[in-house]
Amino acid sequence: MGVMLPQDFSKLEIIGEGKTKIVRRMDNPELVLLEFKDAITALDGEKKDTITGKGHINARISGFLFEFLSKEGVPTHYVSFIEPKYMVVKRLKMLPVEVVCRNIAAGSFAKRYPVEAGSRLKHPVVEYYLKDDLRHDPMMNEDHMVVLGILSSIEEVNEIKRLTLTVNKALSKFLDDKGITLVDFKLEFGRDRNGRIYVGDEINGDSMRLWDKRTGRILDKDVYRQGKNLSEVLETYRECYRRIIGEEPRV
Ligand code: UDP
Repeated sequence: MGVMLPQDFSKLEIIGEGKTKIVRRMDNPELVLLEFKDAITALDGEKKDTITGKGHINARISGFLFEFLSKEGVPTHYVSFIEPKYMVVKRLKMLPVEVVCRNIAAGSFAKRYPVEAGSRLKHPVVEYYLKDDLRHDPMMNEDHMVVLGILSSIEEVNEIKRLTLTVNKALSKFLDDKGITLVDFKLEFGRDRNGRIYVGDEINGDSMRLWDKRTGRILDKDVYRQGKNLSEVLETYRECYRRIIGEEPRV
């Protein structure tokens, strides 16, 4: 057996780039390569740093959780994970919506509404935000999404909501078994060439709030939002990896 050389994807054409990921074209037009960067950002990109190894950790956690969700019957864009920081995914036309699901009051929800931060909600709350930086991602309801043409009908809205709640149930149970409370998370959806809807983007400590069940310790990007030093932030991502993957991270 020969030694597996790290693959050089840097020559693949870039067809999209965000704050934390690069999208590259693949030979198969139905697939794209997602590269997870070591960048970390908060406050709409105003706060920005580089943490070596973060791309690897988040790519691996995403791949792992997408694989889990696919086995649970959730349609996702995930195809495969490639060391150290790549995911091959179905090429989708992404919907300009962030779908947030909350189990515990935290973040903007605890600021906006008269609830005690940290309290469990009577049932999960699903929220929709328009992805529009200039307008600071306004919250939308079901009607907004149909009227704005983001989804074609209320049935499609219901499908997205149902998928989000299915993800919430499966992920909450999976993480609970690992001693982690799933406080809230964000999903993004997209359509394939046939118009079918899949969960896309990423699922990791950048898109979920995760608290240690026993100690309440924060295991996600909130430590960065709180202004903790970067070595503590990296250690938080490493602990998230350890708990979810069950192995010692290589970085
Ligand atoms: N979230 C995200 N991207 C965003 C905004 C929120 O991944 O642009 C996630 C966030 O990590 C948290 C959940 O969505 O798990 C709810 O976030 P919230 O609305 O409280 O916003 P925040 O105050 O974190 O910006």
